[in-house]
Amino acid sequence: MTHPCSSCGIFPARQQPPLPLKNAQEAAQLVLEMAQQANAAGTFGVAGAIIENSTGRVIARLRNRVLGRLDPRLETREGETYTFDPTAHGERQLVQWYYDNKKSKKLPEPFNLTIVTSLDPCAMCTGALLTAGFNVGVVAIDDWAGINFDGRFAFSALPETLRRRVQEKFGYYAVEGHRPYVGGDGVAFRTTAVEVVTHARSLHVFLDNVLAVRDNSQGSGVDPATMADPALLPDDAPLKRACRSHLALAFTHKLTNFRAPDATLQQILSDLVDNTPQAGNAVALIDPFGNLLVAVADRFDRSPLATAFMNAVQAYSTSRFQLLNDPTTSAAARERLTHPKYGTFVFLHAPTPGDSRSLMDLGAYGSTMEGAPPRTTPGNLQYYLPPVAGSVAELAAMIKGLPPFYSQTVGIAPEQVGVAARGVRNEESRQSF
Ligand SMILES: [Zn+2]
Repeated sequence: MTHPCSSCGIFPARQQPPLPLKNAQEAAQLVLEMAQQANAAGTFGVAGAIIENSTGRVIARLRNRVLGRLDPRLETREGETYTFDPTAHGERQLVQWYYDNKKSKKLPEPFNLTIVTSLDPCAMCTGALLTAGFNVGVVAIDDWAGINFDGRFAFSALPETLRRRVQEKFGYYAVEGHRPYVGGDGVAFRTTAVEVVTHARSLHVFLDNVLAVRDNSQGSGVDPATMADPALLPDDAPLKRACRSHLALAFTHKLTNFRAPDATLQQILSDLVDNTPQAGNAVALIDPFGNLLVAVADRFDRSPLATAFMNAVQAYSTSRFQLLNDPTTSAAARERLTHPKYGTFVFLHAPTPGDSRSLMDLGAYGSTMEGAPPRTTPGNLQYYLPPVAGSVAELAAMIKGLPPFYSQTVGIAPEQVGVAARGVRNEESRQSF
């Protein structure tokens, strides 16, 4: 098994870069081979590459690694996969790789580069790609979670600012005898076509295991009814110590009701924003016992993609995977750390409608759930305060227009909570999704 970089958690590009590419078919073939590797590893069969427009040079290539295999000695089922990082889609990782390496490798600006992807980007990856400003060349359409799910290149349900940017930056390669090119002028190889067999294989390598991967991701965690409260472990227990060292503010607060965040938690989030450079928002993840597991602010001083929500999801999921994969903490982690769908995400501010990073966050929430979360009132996606800009009604419209995976399968439905929400609820005029 290839191991990811321990600091950034992504696969490095191969040591020997391939020769410069000459056309869309060569680019599609390159990313297809990596998508096949992802499928064989038991995760979503999708991959992408960063191509320099002027030369066809392959700058980096990465595959999906949402799920990973545990050390065979720790598996309870043969070939068991577990959620490593629900945000580890090929395109999102490539954007992060670009930010991490831009200076040291003297990389060209994103508008001179194209990220070629085997499958239409999801909402999260579209948000990340638009934030950075890459051109995007797409091989196959994903009619459920892809941003061009209806294949019309209209993106009619997206807010206008985002719609125009997707139409300008994204391109869908011509497929011989099947469809013409449609898309922006800056996409590499836009005048060439992909062979029909390569197009079909790009779609099938994803469809082949997408439902099984979604099930494995959603099933990565035990039901709270069979769990034990991690806060009841002694303070020097390896699991508790590891959580405290990996997860900011773990076990520093406990809610009486895990779906009813209190004023203390709001103050914790507010203080995080006040004390973090460039931060505008903060997010907490609460476990089914009401324990605060992680609370973090935006870290735009580290990366333009480091929103509070991305930071919280990545910190929790990668830490949980590591603790499950460590013999000294594995059994306790299985029993006491579960899937975030059983917990509660609490934002200080609701995501800002029409913003590319909000599209990324909403998409990342969908990828973290991979299905409908257990329904209670309030639900497991919450916020204390309205968006910093725009209205709650605009946010609701944006969510309604997302691809069916988000609006139907996951059913994204943020709810206002806390003192402000209770006050408004008493007036029976609360904004409802
Ligand atoms: Zn994606």
